[in-house]
Amino acid sequence: MTITLPQPAGSVALAPGAVVLDEYVEARGPWSAVVAAGDVLTIVDLDGNQAVDCLLYAAENTAVRYSAAVTIAQQRSIVLTTGSALRADTGQTLMTVVADEVGVHDTIGGACSQESNTLRYGQHTREQHACVENFLIEGSRWGLGKRDLVSNINWFMNVPVDPDGALGIVDGLSAPGKRVALRAEVDTLVLVSNCPQINNPCNGFDPTPVRMIVTRPEEAA
Ligand SMILES: [Zn+2]
Repeated sequence: MTITLPQPAGSVALAPGAVVLDEYVEARGPWSAVVAAGDVLTIVDLDGNQAVDCLLYAAENTAVRYSAAVTIAQQRSIVLTTGSALRADTGQTLMTVVADEVGVHDTIGGACSQESNTLRYGQHTREQHACVENFLIEGSRWGLGKRDLVSNINWFMNVPVDPDGALGIVDGLSAPGKRVALRAEVDTLVLVSNCPQINNPCNGFDPTPVRMIVTRPEEAA
């Protein structure tokens, strides 16, 4: 679901070209679109410190989908930033991070769910909306179900790993208006949950909208 908000100052696409899509994702809401090969998706963290949970699928065959394990192994780093090839389970690169104003994005923290919330934060969180529900609602538009949900990317989320291997979910490094840009290497279905989590600092305890802008290089427009 998208809503129209006043255009924020200074938040524009990170890649030059004709704008072929420009949408807001409401706080706590899902979003999806197919980004054509060669086009660049800029994600804008409008108010800062907002985790954007994200899954990628080859548009022509959604059995080919993002793999955190393959991506990490191939680039020999657990951090996503400029230059990261976002690979499918087949090894194929679906998208490439071509610009990044934050420098660190997570792909090991996973997505929140009603079940994990209950386990971590108590029974009173059972009815709180969560990323898995967003993925299922939005994914159903593309014929995707629970079996199609795999370990995801968390744009703008800060998940440091301690020397002893422990993971943290801590205050984000992002700030209002910070952007990350992804170039599609093949036609890619991008499935997003604008994370509704309010029980840890990943959204500053206050989920906020984000903006999605797709640009097409002029020569291809
Ligand atoms: Zn979440």
